[in-house]
Amino acid sequence: MNELVTGIIFLAISSFLLSILFFYFYKNSKMKSFFYFSMSSFVYTLSFLLDVPEEFTGVTLISNILLLTGTMLLVNGLYVFLIDKIFKYSKYIRVIVIPFILILSFDIFVLDTNGGFSYFLFAFLMIFISSIVFVFFKNAQIGKYISGISCFLLGVIYILDFYTEMFSDSELVWYFIHSILFLLIGIGIIICYYEITQVRLTQAEERYRLALEGANEGVFEYDFKKNTTYISSKSMSFIGRSKVEEHKRRALWDLLIHTEDYREMKDKLKRHLNRETEQYTCEYRIKNKSNKYIWINARGKALFDEVGNPYKFTGFHTNITERKKHEERINYLAYYDEVTGVYNRAYISKKVNELQDREFYKGEKHALLVIDIDDFKYVNDLIGHVQGDFFLKVISERIKSCIPNNSVLSRYSGDEFIVLLYNIKNIESVREISNLILESLRKKIHVMNHEIFISASSGITVFPDQGKNFQEIFMFAEIAMNKAKELGKNRCVVFNKNMNDEILERVLLENNMYEAVENEEFIIAYQLQKDLKNDKFTGAEALVRWKHPEKGLIPPNKFIPLAEETGLIIPIGELILREACKKIKFFQEKGMQDFSISVNVSSVQLKSPNFVASLNNIINEIDLDPKLLTLEITESILMESFELNIKKLEKLRELGIKIALDDFGTGYSSFNYLVKLPIDILKIDKSFIDGVHKNPKAKLVVEGIISFAKKLNFLVVAEGVEEIEQLEILKEQDCDKIQGYIFSKPLFESELDRMLLKK
Ligand code: C2E
Ligand code: CA
Ligand code: CA
Repeated sequence: MNELVTGIIFLAISSFLLSILFFYFYKNSKMKSFFYFSMSSFVYTLSFLLDVPEEFTGVTLISNILLLTGTMLLVNGLYVFLIDKIFKYSKYIRVIVIPFILILSFDIFVLDTNGGFSYFLFAFLMIFISSIVFVFFKNAQIGKYISGISCFLLGVIYILDFYTEMFSDSELVWYFIHSILFLLIGIGIIICYYEITQVRLTQAEERYRLALEGANEGVFEYDFKKNTTYISSKSMSFIGRSKVEEHKRRALWDLLIHTEDYREMKDKLKRHLNRETEQYTCEYRIKNKSNKYIWINARGKALFDEVGNPYKFTGFHTNITERKKHEERINYLAYYDEVTGVYNRAYISKKVNELQDREFYKGEKHALLVIDIDDFKYVNDLIGHVQGDFFLKVISERIKSCIPNNSVLSRYSGDEFIVLLYNIKNIESVREISNLILESLRKKIHVMNHEIFISASSGITVFPDQGKNFQEIFMFAEIAMNKAKELGKNRCVVFNKNMNDEILERVLLENNMYEAVENEEFIIAYQLQKDLKNDKFTGAEALVRWKHPEKGLIPPNKFIPLAEETGLIIPIGELILREACKKIKFFQEKGMQDFSISVNVSSVQLKSPNFVASLNNIINEIDLDPKLLTLEITESILMESFELNIKKLEKLRELGIKIALDDFGTGYSSFNYLVKLPIDILKIDKSFIDGVHKNPKAKLVVEGIISFAKKLNFLVVAEGVEEIEQLEILKEQDCDKIQGYIFSKPLFESELDRMLLKK
């Protein structure tokens, strides 16, 4: 085998290798053209091999066919190369270019292989291509040098060979160098393309990132296939952590989300990834670098594969802290109580109703606690409204300190507070919290120079066991709270069904009461009072009874509060006053000149602007001696609007009517203000009399009250005397009058008449 054949074999191998390499990248249209080029040169070299014996005469049929095939491949390569660069506009150009290149290549390789022109042409073509490579692949790094310089060298070698015939002795070296450069050109080109696409990709990615980073919104992307997460620096900048490395961002982000919001966020994400929602949107709080919570609005969409599994989840983060602040401000105005800064009734009713229709809370039980300050009116009168507000603030803070963090406290109205306790363990735990609150409220409160002691009553309902909506739940809790008041205040009562029945009964009773006024179902019982000086009955207290057609006699404490609430106490009270006055007149006419009757007056009556006038009318109508009529008023009635009531009492006394202070000792009892009261009679409450003979302290108190009252020139009446021992002590203390079962139970008119007139 001579050197020429070995050389050509080298060239064949190198072009074949290149073809394989280019074929590997065949999908890339640019590489496709180079594949055709290298294949054509391979086919050419094969034809050369066949021609070797004839020294390139090109006579054998096969070698000619090969030559033609090589040319076709070359032309096709050129076409593919140019098509998407220059000729993509016109397919007709192919018709012109193909014959042109055909003729040219035929000239180079077939007709004129040894001719100088073709040699030169090829050399300059190579040098020209080398410069094109540098222009065309200017973005490539190494590839352009490898292919460009190899091209250039090939061209130079052709020229040098032409002039010096330096390779004429050694065909092998010539072909060897030729094939090496040929390979290098090909490899260089492949490297160029690889580099360029790489650069393009990173540039595109960079642009994408820059666009994202520049936006006002943060971006996140979960790749489920690669199990990676990208959270943009913008997102991270919201929480002041844009410097955190990318792979650590996701874990940190999740960690910083507010625990209360995390559950909801996960829930929403899960539902979106299960294709239950079209889009994922969620608003949550997340902690920033200075440990403050900011608000993030996250929204995104997942992409799903054919099987329905998500493979990518992309979305935006927006910092909505400002908007939330604004909203919160609006919410504050809509949902907060101005006075105490806790929530108001609108908020708590919203929260309770929310619980009713949230799937989320299925199976959980919640409690509503109503707390009402006992006798708040006194406090308000004592310290005035401005300080009253301060006082309520103190109270709300105390309640707050006793309840779990996640519960809701609101002021419902006046001195009534409501607590919503979420997801309670059992009723005992609620009772415990309630007792804790009541206990904390009993502690001394300082307001200005006053030291105030209060108590409170509370009612509890558990729902959804009881109550369908806020209205009902609250009503039940309030019923329980009122029950606590009824039972003597300063305690906590849990609502049960029976209470509701009681309320129902009250409602029925209320309806009946309207008819009762018209049907004159109210009658009076009189309880005699004995004067200890002369041992005679000198008066009686009028006590009302309701003679209900079905229920029989109803005692006053069962219906008076109701009559007060509905205002019916005014006609009923007037009726009693008229009857009592008539009775006084009746006894007077029977010769009992000094027999007096005392009538209980409720606060609602006293408050009524017509009270004094209408009483005056009755007196005139009956022509009664006003000094025989006594009005009984309790301390609590007086305290409601002290100044005004004092004025009214003074007016009544000017008319000649006597005033008795009822139930003395049970209410606000202060000797201080007793001095200022325009009263004539003091009635010591039954609760003091009860223990007077057993308990030395009670005895001391009664003694004190009597001697003090005497000093102020009040007549003293002891109420509820049942035992001889009690009577003895009262006699000793110089008590003026006695009223009690020991002498007389309340009597109806006929009995009273019989009792008094037979004497
Ligand atoms: P009050 O003014 O303190 O009347 C005294 C109550 O004590 C009466 O009950 C009377 O029957 C009862 N009582 C008197 N002596 C004894 C005793 O020795 N032992 C016992 N255990 N009880 C005794 P009553 O009649 O049930 O009246 C209850 C309350 O209803 C009265 O308390 C009063 O506040 C109110 N009330 C009664 N009649 C009227 C009325 O005509 N108008 C208004 N506004 N309230 C009335
Ligand atoms: Ca009374
Ligand atoms: Ca009384």
